[in-house]
Amino acid sequence: MPGRWLALPLVFLLLSPIPAHTQQALPIFDTHIHYSQPDWATYTPEDILKILDRAGVRRALVSSTPDDGTLKLYDKAPARIAPELRPYRTRGDMGSWYRDPALLAYVEERLKRGIYKGIGEFHLFGGQTDTPVIRRLAELAVEKNLFLHAHSDAAAVEELFALNPRVKILWAHAGMTSDPGSIGTLLDRYPNLWAELAIRTDMASGGTLDPAWRALFLRHPDRIMLGTDTWTTSRWEALPAYLEEMRAWLRQLPREVAEKIAFRNAERLFGP
Ligand SMILES: [Zn+2]
Repeated sequence: MPGRWLALPLVFLLLSPIPAHTQQALPIFDTHIHYSQPDWATYTPEDILKILDRAGVRRALVSSTPDDGTLKLYDKAPARIAPELRPYRTRGDMGSWYRDPALLAYVEERLKRGIYKGIGEFHLFGGQTDTPVIRRLAELAVEKNLFLHAHSDAAAVEELFALNPRVKILWAHAGMTSDPGSIGTLLDRYPNLWAELAIRTDMASGGTLDPAWRALFLRHPDRIMLGTDTWTTSRWEALPAYLEEMRAWLRQLPREVAEKIAFRNAERLFGP
């Protein structure tokens, strides 16, 4: 009967759009993981990999203080861990590393392993970049095609590009307090700049994606990535829930853009 046949497509139209919450969970490439010394007593590398499983983290860009934590994880899961070399032997190096030639020697020595995708995450702010250590570090990064993973303000990002326009920078926390408009301006200006959103929660409020952030994601879908930042041991326990919050606003973007931010951009830049 014609009436029946007409009704069928209507039923399909009503049933076929998959509600957002039942969509397959987006896999994540977490671009801001640390496995530093205080974590080791609480979580073995196997425990860490289980947490990543639970959170749907397919791969992670990992650094640690000291670097041995990164190597422990990398040894357990080399296909899953993209190692970065942090220029700190201890937490005490954090404040003075950029003017300490001993750390440059340390970095050059460790880079000989040839496994690293980047140097960082390091802390460096405007007015601290014009040192022989940073100048050489930028050269090394260019020579070896490594990213600089910079926890920096916008001023330091601009200074690093002025020092060496060929560096590639992964901007940690997208400047932490920089607003989406200013982040977009920097991404427009520097084609070798990428940003990750670790720790930040201002992309959405009450679960709704902020319009200024949406505009930034649609303008620069290839330049933005996710990260958690396990900077202190308690962050490990919070990691799966934090990434669920990220998925909630990602679902409000076109699937293609959400996938790029969740994992495709990082796969392209840091994947095996
Ligand atoms: Zn960090």
